[in-house]
Amino acid sequence: MSSLLWYRRDLRVRDHPALRAASKDRVVPVFCFDDRLLHGRHASGARTQFLLECLVDLDASLRERGSGLVIRHGPPERELVMLARELGAGRVHFTGDVSPFARRRGARVERALRKAGIESLAHPGLNAVDDVAELRTKAGKPYTVFSPFHRAWLTAERRAVLEAPRELTPLPSGLRKGRIPSLESLGLEQEVADPPPGGETEARRAANRFLHRPLHDYAADHDALGRDRTSRLSPYLHFGCLAPRELEGRLPRGEGPEAFRRQLCWRDFHHHVLAHFPRNARSEFQQRYRGKIKWSYAKRRFEAWTEGHTGYPLVDAAMRQLRREGWMHNRARLVVGSFLTKHLGIDWRWGERWFMRLLVDGDEANNNGNWQWIASVGTDPQPAFRRIYNPARQMERFDPNGDYVRRYVPELCGVPDRYLAEPWKMPAEVQREAGCVIGEDYPGPIVDHSRAREEALERYRSG
Ligand SMILES: Cc1cc2nc3c(=O)[nH]c(=O)nc-3n(C[C@H](O)[C@H](O)[C@H](O)COP(=O)(O)OP(=O)(O)OC[C@H]3O[C@@H](n4cnc5c(N)ncnc54)[C@H](O)[C@@H]3O)c2cc1C
Repeated sequence: MSSLLWYRRDLRVRDHPALRAASKDRVVPVFCFDDRLLHGRHASGARTQFLLECLVDLDASLRERGSGLVIRHGPPERELVMLARELGAGRVHFTGDVSPFARRRGARVERALRKAGIESLAHPGLNAVDDVAELRTKAGKPYTVFSPFHRAWLTAERRAVLEAPRELTPLPSGLRKGRIPSLESLGLEQEVADPPPGGETEARRAANRFLHRPLHDYAADHDALGRDRTSRLSPYLHFGCLAPRELEGRLPRGEGPEAFRRQLCWRDFHHHVLAHFPRNARSEFQQRYRGKIKWSYAKRRFEAWTEGHTGYPLVDAAMRQLRREGWMHNRARLVVGSFLTKHLGIDWRWGERWFMRLLVDGDEANNNGNWQWIASVGTDPQPAFRRIYNPARQMERFDPNGDYVRRYVPELCGVPDRYLAEPWKMPAEVQREAGCVIGEDYPGPIVDHSRAREEALERYRSG
């Protein structure tokens, strides 16, 4: 029997339940470029470039095992049926996904295959816990609060980690393999200057680097902005270059690794929530805020935020890190998310969309869940005032030496430490000495923190 393995965002050969099952037959691995995704509402040149690199690496791994990656371009409900018919394949294996688009698309593909008399089989592999959507509260309901989810998640069963198949059947002779396209030929543009490289090989390198470091200080240090103590594995996890199950399985014991495991649980939590509440993708989880908050759509303020010209050094450093690397530290994401939605009162969906455009780890479940969380409209049970971060205080706490800010905002390099969090407080003479005149070399703050805070609270009260 021949099978297709439909690759989506599970771009690896190790710990891959669908590949393992499919490789019992003569398997043809295929990836399908779908314009609805490439040019849809979450289109991203940066993420697509990363994807292309993942595919090149995956093709090489499959070729090493005697096979290769077949490339098709078009709706998978059409392309997979055509390919399966051409090869006489009776089954299509794939890794299940939770985003509303992926599920609608998966269902269309399954219908088209069924009509053609071809079986489709969904497998786990997306999360650390296999069927994360199946976890339920004692009342039999989906979880909407993280802590009880975390407790249930810790004790949920884990499957054994799978080796990569040593050998795969060769692609049938005469089969058109198709080519991995360039970013330009897909009509997209790389907007990020210094992105991380994609692929399973790079993912394993990054994971090894992280796991061979002492992890005991991860719990205390993962918020420290200047020290880069987090794994930066998020893009690899998003594209499935690394299985979260395998990553979790490699963690040693101890407080640091436990804190890291908890982060993996946040990832599974957001997948769980989106699987059960797909309308979150477009509207607030909390009904009382749906259509009720008067969001701002002020374009110039939004641009000041996207460009990193708000006058708040930590916000600006973070937004420039995103532009430069297609990635941003979690603490910084929280600060800029709070700033956009609370200080500027701008609709969280604008921030969500901007992140999806530039983030190489842009992931609908994680991004949406976190944006709703920081906008205080999501599953977080805390009231809005608990999540209005003062960017100056956050900088003093998480970037006390200014290493992070100076790395991304060169205009501020000469500013003395004591003024770095609030450079507009520098006396005129110090500004001149520092080579940073406020209003000329670096903007003054676009909003006043205390006033913005009051206005934000009023917005939520009247919501
Ligand atoms: C407004 C906002 C938007 C976000 N958008 C995304 C997104 O699009 N894609 C994304 O993967 N993460 C997103 N996050 C979560 C988090 O910021 C990143 O996962 C993390 O910064 C990635 O860096 P790391 O791999 O070094 O993390 P580490 O600290 O090394 O954590 C390991 C892994 O745990 C997961 N993780 C960590 N924190 C979270 C979290 N809060 N929610 C979900 N998973 C988490 C990630 O997969 C991460 O790679 C967002 C956070 C905020 C506040």
